[in-house]
Amino acid sequence: MIKNPKVIVDLTHLTHNAKQVIGTCHDLGIDVAGVVKGATGAVGVARAFVNGGANQIASSRVEQLEAIKAAGFKEETMLLRVPMLSEIPDVVRWADITLNSELTVIEAQEEEAARQHRIQKIILMADMGDLREGYWDKDEMAEVALKIEKEMPHLQLIGVGTNLGCYGSVAATPEKLNELIDVAHKVEAKIGRKLQYISGGATSSYMRIMDGNLPKEINHLRIGEGILLARDFEVFYGYKNTGLYQDTFVLQAEIIEVKEKPSHPVGELAVDAFGHKPTYVDKGMRKKALLAIGKVDYGDTAELIPLEPGLEVLGASSDHTILDITECPRDLKVGDVVKFTINYATIVYLTNTENVQLEYIWDDELMSND
Ligand SMILES: *Cc1c(COP(=O)(O)O)cnc(C)c1O
Repeated sequence: MIKNPKVIVDLTHLTHNAKQVIGTCHDLGIDVAGVVKGATGAVGVARAFVNGGANQIASSRVEQLEAIKAAGFKEETMLLRVPMLSEIPDVVRWADITLNSELTVIEAQEEEAARQHRIQKIILMADMGDLREGYWDKDEMAEVALKIEKEMPHLQLIGVGTNLGCYGSVAATPEKLNELIDVAHKVEAKIGRKLQYISGGATSSYMRIMDGNLPKEINHLRIGEGILLARDFEVFYGYKNTGLYQDTFVLQAEIIEVKEKPSHPVGELAVDAFGHKPTYVDKGMRKKALLAIGKVDYGDTAELIPLEPGLEVLGASSDHTILDITECPRDLKVGDVVKFTINYATIVYLTNTENVQLEYIWDDELMSND
């Protein structure tokens, strides 16, 4: 028995999402790296991505790729965050593919790959305006590509890629992706051969497939959220009936106190546990419950979406969450558990803390037929 609080991962629904999204990509000749960083690289989650057809397993953290290798996966691993110069031995050991934007780092990878008798695959990142990682100067990028091609026998340049919608909230429009294709052509002209991959982004680029306007030459995507939670499509972009489950991750926490209490604090008000001065609505006496989970575990109460009818999250401190359960039809008692669906960012927090464990559930029959 896994103790509370816990996150329940529905592997049947997750595998369904992976099969649908990755299958749609494969039908169009697009390979998919399944991005597991959103669930802190959880091995069960990686397994669902692979069962869904993922061509690679990707994470921003090299430690998670090491865990994936240790778990015996045969798929290639991909490091999403451009490597730190100080982590190159681990990067070469655990990442089969890296995304790169600095020649110094690439040179260090070549040297280390030679030492480890490994060949490492490289995707050069182009910054198309989102202003996180990648080459702004595309001439410089093409020169680096040529250097890898001609002077670095332990590195294999397999493609170019870009990242959109992360810092600069720039949308993955067909125009942006066509600009990336132009960059790919520039690099191909420089090195005198075709590249294997033009890696056109993340979940936000998958929406171009849903719209039927993903430029043809994009043949690789790196997808996390759109499979793990599949909520952004509907919540932020208004796509309906995606056929994807949005309840793959559910948080369960336990009630440790139930009492009638005032809704407005009693006494002289100063600041809360975080130095803030919140306002409190006075609704008189209410039935309140305390949960044994807090901001340390999930970050922000606004990201918790109660599955219990009538339940309202009032606030939280580091280790306690305060609920108003006056309107709950169920007679909640100490020891009962309540459930929440959670947002993508919250899953990262919850899967990163030792206080919260993952419990995998699946439906044997559906898993074999799906
Ligand atoms: C996180 C990340 C992704 C996956 O993003 P999602 O929005 O979860 O699909 C893809 N590429 C890079 C470089 C990333 O850092």
